[in-house]
Amino acid sequence: MTHLRIVFLGTSAATPTGSRGLSATAIQRGDELLLFDAGEGVQQAIAKAGLGLNRRMKIFITHIHGDHTVGLLGLLQSMSMTGRDKSLDIYGPERVWELVKEVRRILGFVLTFPVRFTKAYSGVIVDEEEYVVKAARSEHEVDSYAYCIEERDRPGAFHRENAIRLGVPEGELWSRLQHGQPVIVGDKKILPRQVLGPKRRGRRIGVSGDTRPNSRLTRFFKDCDVLIFDSTYGDDQAERAVENLHATAREAAMLARNAGASLLVLTHFSARYTDVSPLLFQAAEVHPKVMAATDQMAFDIPYPEDW
Ligand SMILES: [Zn+2]
Repeated sequence: MTHLRIVFLGTSAATPTGSRGLSATAIQRGDELLLFDAGEGVQQAIAKAGLGLNRRMKIFITHIHGDHTVGLLGLLQSMSMTGRDKSLDIYGPERVWELVKEVRRILGFVLTFPVRFTKAYSGVIVDEEEYVVKAARSEHEVDSYAYCIEERDRPGAFHRENAIRLGVPEGELWSRLQHGQPVIVGDKKILPRQVLGPKRRGRRIGVSGDTRPNSRLTRFFKDCDVLIFDSTYGDDQAERAVENLHATAREAAMLARNAGASLLVLTHFSARYTDVSPLLFQAAEVHPKVMAATDQMAFDIPYPEDW
């Protein structure tokens, strides 16, 4: 199985507080790091979490606002100063790349590694062997995207008793069947479906960025195992959430429930809330499984059948 872990690096909205940095969430999948947003302070948060800078990595930016992007510049600079050699992929609205180019021009810093930028669009923007990343337009003041990592289906569970009954010797032939290849035993051809259960779906993690909740995002986040959603405000600021194109914790929970998301993680809290437990309580009235993110909070994501 591939290890999948979420690390919250910054969980405050707009301005940092003593305990919360600006938006950034890391998803570690095997040896790769997928970073969603890079608010100011992200470098220190990465160091604190022990995640390292010279590794296989993709960065997804939800929108151009400074509290989600300013950390990207220092991050690229530090990667160069520490001799990163692996290429880096960045995805996001066009202006993210303009920002990087302009700051590089002004500061005159050199990158020691190739950076590939892909302008975000609604659809599959990353197509890897084991997973895809989809993007969808979200609803904020500027060009904004929500992202969803979806692992591809895995082969079904291996039924060793069937393999033994069919006379397949343990070892390499089992492994080939487990990888979906037929094998020959004596004069018999054994097919993977004779020893494997039905295909099992992979894990899905959604990241909303800053947005109003809407029906398009509800469909986009359908059946997420974990949904990380804008929860800038509590019920007391519901009007402000509409005005500023953010969500309340309760609205995040309603969307998560309608999308069938197993676990909802609230994040991007307005600095006005020194204690976010009322927001957690409001969301928990709607969705049975809710957590409030804190900086450096981290947990592993099991496969759907292991929840
Ligand atoms: Zn924000």
